[in-house]
Amino acid sequence: MKGRGPLSRIEWALGVDIGGTNVKTGFVNRDGMLVGFRSFPTPRTGSGALDVPGLADEIAAQLREAPGQGTLAGIGVGVPGLLNEERTEVRYAVNLGLSDVPLAALLQKRWNVPVTLDSDVVMGALGESRRGAAAEFDRFLYVAIGTGVGACLIEPEGVYRNPMGGPLNIGHMAVYPEGVDCACGNRGCLERYVSGLGLTERYEAAAGGSANPDGGSRVSVERICALADQGDALARKLLTEAGRALGTVCANLFQLFGECPIVVGGGLSRIRSLLLESAVRELAQRGRAVLTAPPVVLPAALPDRAGVMGAAEAVFSK
Ligand SMILES: [Zn+2]
Repeated sequence: MKGRGPLSRIEWALGVDIGGTNVKTGFVNRDGMLVGFRSFPTPRTGSGALDVPGLADEIAAQLREAPGQGTLAGIGVGVPGLLNEERTEVRYAVNLGLSDVPLAALLQKRWNVPVTLDSDVVMGALGESRRGAAAEFDRFLYVAIGTGVGACLIEPEGVYRNPMGGPLNIGHMAVYPEGVDCACGNRGCLERYVSGLGLTERYEAAAGGSANPDGGSRVSVERICALADQGDALARKLLTEAGRALGTVCANLFQLFGECPIVVGGGLSRIRSLLLESAVRELAQRGRAVLTAPPVVLPAALPDRAGVMGAAEAVFSK
């Protein structure tokens, strides 16, 4: 990637989206062209934590296949977890088994290019912001539903950040005061109702031994949605409850930040189900005091690639 002539002025960024199951990578130029998109299983050590040298090896392999022309502006990395205020270290990422890991420095010392670290939710929001479902909006709320659930408010000035530098950590907002116990020590947290893991665990707990008629180890959210479509009362109840919880939190966010369009992304964003219908209905009811028009809730346009696109965007906008 060290071409000569006019094409060498093309700048590329490598976007890396680390998920609990898969890592996605790809090169993106300043015009938003994505090439060399890859998805591979998240490398893990024997203890189950993210294998950082293994990840670096995968990145090195990708860099060897870099577009022939142009220069590498940097590497952007989205992480599902809490970062330090400077966004150089992973303070805590439960799905990656990481705590206090200087990930930016570990990657940066291997390649002499800037490494930009941020929450995977922020990266997803940035991806949808410039090239995806929110391209027409200068202000919107991005909600990512996957293994967990998170949100990010994009304002005309950029990403809204909490005092610790992170996005809106809605996953552990209590929505049902006497609700389900959560690993965080609280109860009734949004994540226990809306996330993939929360839905799976609640379905299995309620259905007992008959949880998975297919004989698989876990009941996937896709399966729960299919069961709901077939009229399964438990699946319908859980998805409706999840939607109400999500709609309630969005209405609360509107009370704090004002109304804005919502883009729903993340690994489960493709689910067209009772969950989103129920969320929109709840938001319309609970948000009446602040809504001036029916709420706009859109599915992500780049559900697989928003994290990679946004990670590259973060490099260019730094
Ligand atoms: Zn919690």
